Amino acid sequence: MIGEITLTAPEAGCAPSRQPEVLRAGVIRERGQREVFCGLTGIIWLHRKMQDAFFLVVGSRTCAHLLQSAAGVMIFAEPRFATAIIEERDLAGMADCQDELDRIVDRLLTRRPEIRTLFLVGSCPSEVIKLDLGKAAQRLDVKFSPSTRILNYSGSGIETTFTEGEDACLTAIVPEMPAASASDAANLLVVGALPDIVEDQFGRLFAEIGISNVGYLPTRRMADLPPVGPNTRFLLAQPFLTETTGALQRRGATRLDALFPFGAEGTTDWLRAAADAFGVDPMHFNRVVAPGRERAKRAIAHRRERLEGKRITFLPDSQLELPLARFLATELGMIPVEVGTPYLNRELNARELALLPQGTRLSEGQDVDLQLDRVRFDRPDLTVCGLGLANPLEAEGLSTKWAIELVFSPIHGFEQAGDLAELFARPLRRRDVLRV
Ligand code: SF4
Repeated sequence: MIGEITLTAPEAGCAPSRQPEVLRAGVIRERGQREVFCGLTGIIWLHRKMQDAFFLVVGSRTCAHLLQSAAGVMIFAEPRFATAIIEERDLAGMADCQDELDRIVDRLLTRRPEIRTLFLVGSCPSEVIKLDLGKAAQRLDVKFSPSTRILNYSGSGIETTFTEGEDACLTAIVPEMPAASASDAANLLVVGALPDIVEDQFGRLFAEIGISNVGYLPTRRMADLPPVGPNTRFLLAQPFLTETTGALQRRGATRLDALFPFGAEGTTDWLRAAADAFGVDPMHFNRVVAPGRERAKRAIAHRRERLEGKRITFLPDSQLELPLARFLATELGMIPVEVGTPYLNRELNARELALLPQGTRLSEGQDVDLQLDRVRFDRPDLTVCGLGLANPLEAEGLSTKWAIELVFSPIHGFEQAGDLAELFARPLRRRDVLRV
């Protein structure tokens, strides 16, 4: 359980106006400068997952650069994302802007008729904020539906951080899901983009457990969107889906409370929540999951020697921080010093919070200078942080792990548990080698 937090960094009291607010529940809340990618980043894994969707960012050259450098330039494949760059113009010019957007969409869909869903993705430049993309999506949807649905969401860095782009995208998809009625058979929905290989592994496990009516959000093809209704039970595969959770609940679905499927124990708990909800015999469940669970435990044990007793700090980035800290603490014996997260959703993370070791410092939001002061004071063995902070911390002799790697790598489920542990072991091994 999380206890009261004593902020021990000496610098914490130096600047009263910027002092973090320490809540009664023992969480440091900061609302200062943050170092996190914006929600456009989600397009990089979403466009790979949703094979008949296209993401058209309406933004600036900066947005285009972000996407190109993060996703790499695809020379051999037709990309499924692009940026419509809006140059500076006054309000009077916004009508032209809408016409231009219509022309771009027209040209795109004529050239790429296989696109079934086109997402107009908003960004932060003031020109884009002036443009009503919701209305544009409605107008274009009337024109191109049903062959292509036009949806819209925002990936703007003003409104979203890093993984919130996926949350906004899935929230936009929920109204497109077919309705299931109260008389329909219960179905299970797995929510959150997973690499296909991981989705297939879970699919096989659910089938062996005896749950056959399983759907995924997002789906590889939009035509395969599963139904949602009062008999839908859903499991979150990712902890950053607050808005999507609300949208599904408003359509009558019920969230199954579970640990997130990281490591042997997290994955078992996650699968068990579904098994319990679907009335699966516990003995049968244990028999089915035992081999995968044992494989995961063995794979994790190989990394335990390097990680056990090591102190780790997470800077707020992907919202995966809490479940990952729980995994590292309970299955690898690591000591979380500070676990920072951009937003702390206590409800979705209740089970995770309960398993974090006593004395773990939690922080929500960021004031990057204050947070770096605490890292320098704590000097953890490993700091998980964004790309921009990693090199300066390495230069100060602190080992780091890029948070973005944890989002881009397959890390869910039994078969990936060893790889997940390895992602944390590798920087420590590198540090030891460099020291020799
Ligand atoms: S959406 Fe905003 S933060 Fe993101 S790349 Fe574009 S300008 Fe930058």
